[in-house]
Amino acid sequence: MKIVSRERWFEVQRRDLGISLIHEPYIRPFYRCNLWHVRGSARDLLIDSGSGLVSLREQLPWLTERPLLAVASHTHFDHIAGHHEFPERLVHPAEADILAAPTAASTLAADCVGDAMFEAHPDCPLCYAEYRVKAAPATRLIEEGDVLDLGDRVLEVLHTPGHSPGGISLWEKATQTLFSGDILYDGPLVENAYHSNLEDYARSLLRLRDLPVRIVRGGHFPSFSGERMVELIDRWLREHPGLR
Ligand SMILES: [Zn+2]
Ligand SMILES: [Zn+2]
Repeated sequence: MKIVSRERWFEVQRRDLGISLIHEPYIRPFYRCNLWHVRGSARDLLIDSGSGLVSLREQLPWLTERPLLAVASHTHFDHIAGHHEFPERLVHPAEADILAAPTAASTLAADCVGDAMFEAHPDCPLCYAEYRVKAAPATRLIEEGDVLDLGDRVLEVLHTPGHSPGGISLWEKATQTLFSGDILYDGPLVENAYHSNLEDYARSLLRLRDLPVRIVRGGHFPSFSGERMVELIDRWLREHPGLR
């Protein structure tokens, strides 16, 4: 396995509207979480925190130069393993227990973490030998309808279970931007995790379909338009007859 230095583990790509994508390019696409950083006038938002193999705070110290809300779209290991590094941690109550006391089974790390996940390893051998998702008890629980106020912009919490029971999406109405976590992205969706629920999945997708979305920024794979969102949802519903 190729080894890369920790300094090169994360990549930051600026998008429009004060939004940046942070990701781990040496993790293969299906396992590579999109971390979304949203800049606000009073505080910033970090949606998900990645695999935790390399310290986000050490490599990207600018993240904590301003107040930061670290939100978990849900609690699979690829989305929350960096949360313990941040003082303000937000999650839906249905997955608060997992964030507070994560296990390899409850976060899916047991099923996924292995050589197949990587193009390269970071230069810290113990990352693997001692890999575990660290506890990061929530400091705030967020539910349907709650608002995350960043000062000059607000995002609304939509409870979108199905992939997992406490999955949330964040909707910025003013920019018609949907951060969808793992309920919807343009790649193979996971609807058979131990705590997935197909009826919830269908309901969540039907609900997202009604939003006037301009762009979807999901938990994995590239962002896509609202038209593509409708296509993906309709295809999913066709492939799962009897759920609507
Ligand atoms: Zn997931
Ligand atoms: Zn994921």
